[in-house]
Amino acid sequence: MGLLVVGSLGLDTVATPFDKVEDALGGSATYISLASSYFSGPVYLVGIVGEDFPKRYIKLLEDHHVDLEGLQVVEGGKTFRWSGKYHYDLNVRDTLFTELNVFENFDPVIPDKCRKAHFVCLGNIDPVLQGKVLDQMENPQFVVCDTMNYWIEGKKDDLMKVLPRVNVLIINDSEARLLAHEPNLIKAARKIREMGPEILIIKKGEHGALLFMEDVIFSAPAYPMEMIYDPTGAGDSFAGGFIGYLYKSQDLSPASMKRAVIYGSALASFCVEKFSTKALEDLSYLRVQDRYREFLTLSRFDEYD
Ligand code: AMP
Repeated sequence: MGLLVVGSLGLDTVATPFDKVEDALGGSATYISLASSYFSGPVYLVGIVGEDFPKRYIKLLEDHHVDLEGLQVVEGGKTFRWSGKYHYDLNVRDTLFTELNVFENFDPVIPDKCRKAHFVCLGNIDPVLQGKVLDQMENPQFVVCDTMNYWIEGKKDDLMKVLPRVNVLIINDSEARLLAHEPNLIKAARKIREMGPEILIIKKGEHGALLFMEDVIFSAPAYPMEMIYDPTGAGDSFAGGFIGYLYKSQDLSPASMKRAVIYGSALASFCVEKFSTKALEDLSYLRVQDRYREFLTLSRFDEYD
């Protein structure tokens, strides 16, 4: 029945302490689709770009078997653009600009064949649009939602309307603190789950991720890396790996959810190895599995010698 991914497709200008790229392929839906394409398909992408969106990026998504029937290309329109600058502590980034462009008037239309999808990933876009997507779905059974400080600060009321309609919210630690008005992450998690999502994942950059589900807290390690080239898209790649695995396994038990967090972490670890989407472009399911197994050895220990 397929996995529906909705979010931004954009051109990113990114500076890290080591390098800089301009107008590179980015956007939440782009990273989520590429990351989830390494599991079982089909992946349906719904989004919008302007006429200036390079054809080679469309081809890249098609080469990953991402179905683009739901992609609107606006004649004469300008693609979404975002720019970020990372500090030496790569967990800290400043947004230099966000140009919504074609997103200002985006009305997401879900193609008929995708309305029956049970698995939906709402990438980071305006929460009003996330709600419009859910309105068109016939029977969504597992909805994963991402958001960011831009929307928590600018559209909190609309976000609060979406949260009761999603099963999983994925955000990073600073966003969790901002959303809950609470510095302690465990208390913040309780408050956020009271807003709607029964499952919450808090990403902590190079410190791993926390999963809150039922009365379980699961702590996933981050992959130890000597060099992080570009953290952009790590969060979206995490979401793609997470939902991609769950869609493939069709198992939503707590044990499967923990495995999905590790698959998400694996995809995020690949993403940051190169600028933009480069490191997600030529992976294979086997390489993803190898890294998943490396994660297993990272925190496995015996109680007794
Ligand atoms: P991440 O690093 O996972 O938080 O995601 C970064 C991606 O999100 C970039 O490729 C941006 O193009 C995209 N992005 C940044 N700001 C926004 C926004 N306000 N709405 C939608 N997408 C955004």
